[in-house]
Amino acid sequence: PSRFDFYIIAAHPNQPSTDMTAHLIDGKQIATDTQAHIKERVTALSARGINPGLAVILVGDNPASHVYVSNKVKSCGVVGMHSVLEQYPADLSETKLLERIHALNIDPSIHGILVQLPLPAHINEHAVLEAISPIKDVDGFHLINAGALMTGQPRLRACTPYGVMKMLEHSGTEIRGAHAVVIGASNIVGKPMALMLLQAGATITVCNSKTRDLAHHTRQADIIVAAVGRAKFITGDMVKAGAVVIDVGMNRDENGKLCGDVDFESVSKVAGAVSPVPGGVGPMTITMLLMNTLEAAEKYA
Ligand code: NAP
Repeated sequence: PSRFDFYIIAAHPNQPSTDMTAHLIDGKQIATDTQAHIKERVTALSARGINPGLAVILVGDNPASHVYVSNKVKSCGVVGMHSVLEQYPADLSETKLLERIHALNIDPSIHGILVQLPLPAHINEHAVLEAISPIKDVDGFHLINAGALMTGQPRLRACTPYGVMKMLEHSGTEIRGAHAVVIGASNIVGKPMALMLLQAGATITVCNSKTRDLAHHTRQADIIVAAVGRAKFITGDMVKAGAVVIDVGMNRDENGKLCGDVDFESVSKVAGAVSPVPGGVGPMTITMLLMNTLEAAEKYA
């Protein structure tokens, strides 16, 4: 057993444990412990007169976005960080939004800026993301941060794949030399995920919607990261015995219940370890946003 075994427990709280063989990678617990560590570093930095600050901008009234931003702001409080939430109506002009970003770029009390996506259709998302100073880009979406990751010198990293890396590390998963199959190739999850795994020494396969015979690829994987956006898409017959499966998906099942891209029921009988939804990648994404804000304040303030 590795020293990280503390983070994997043998049963899922919502499932009958009798025929489940996989360890559970407990993202919620890893997030709690990581936040305790972040809080210590925030306290140390504050003692030197720098209190890390996050600005979150929300444009419009998408209900899911409201929940996400309020969770992000609440989490800042948990680790002792300063945060500001700026909310604007859906008809805010792109010019006004860019003006706010420019003001936050030079605000010394703010170390991280996050613009909640999606933005209303009349605003150019790329222009907005590129307007954020790369040293305050705590989502890691700026071209400079994406390029830094691609060339193997990561600065601020995309939060979700960064969180997945921490989950793999804490569960004692050997990444070096492993074959990792990433399903999904978006700029915010799949692509940076593949690059982080590559940098950690994995051999990677990246799948997208055009991939022929997906199961052929997934069955060869030592590590599977599912980031597709389709409920219970990855089933037990697509997974090699003993593989580590991380579920990034956030979907609603036929009963409206939150579920991942992985069919937990069948996969947990085959995999060596699996992360649940909820309680897996979700809490780690927010935690790595806090980590990025802390790192931005430590490095660049
Ligand atoms: P996205 O931008 O819609 O990308 C989905 C990716 O999946 C695309 O690359 C797409 O391929 C690929 N795909 C679609 N159907 C496929 C199929 N049949 N076989 C293989 N690949 C297929 O989604 P995203 O933003 O990356 O998010 C993915 C999921 O993660 C969603 O459920 C989202 O809600 C969730 N998510 C969770 C968190 C969290 O914190 N837990 C954070 C971010 C996202 P193409 O490139 O060919 O279109």
